Amino acid sequence: MNEQETQLKKQHKFLDFLYWNLVVSVPFITACIAIARDSTLWLVFYIITCVLLVMVIYRFFCTHCPHYLQGTKTTKCMFFWGVPKFFKEKPGPLSLLEKTVALFIPLVVVLLPLYYLLLQPGLLVIYFLSVIVLCTTLRRYECRRCIYSQCPANCVQKDL
Ligand code: SF4
Repeated sequence: MNEQETQLKKQHKFLDFLYWNLVVSVPFITACIAIARDSTLWLVFYIITCVLLVMVIYRFFCTHCPHYLQGTKTTKCMFFWGVPKFFKEKPGPLSLLEKTVALFIPLVVVLLPLYYLLLQPGLLVIYFLSVIVLCTTLRRYECRRCIYSQCPANCVQKDL
């Protein structure tokens, strides 16, 4: 990695937000297509559930993040841009419950459309490949220089 890629990233840009949301949109739209082919009702249920689960992550995990603890009215980071801070800022370490939420809820979100994807193996392959690309790229380009030191996935070298 070059020097720019290993320096701590203190602030995200709007382009970061666009990029990461595009990356997330690939598995999300793939899951939506798989579900929509079978049931519009389940598609609506899936989208609403995803929004609610993201809000749970926002409440338990993001409220401790330095990108959230900015004293501003909205959050501006790689995943949220201009999203109101519905919840109180919570500086300090994550509790065991909050760490569990941070690890468990994303897993639920990923596995949620599995039934419909199993009915369409082509979409299943695209879905899991795009989830793997999302996770490995995040780890490679963000977790190694992230300022959220409390996050269980943070892997910044101590000397940075
Ligand atoms: S950078 Fe991650 S943890 Fe921090 S506010 Fe954004 S989504 Fe939440």
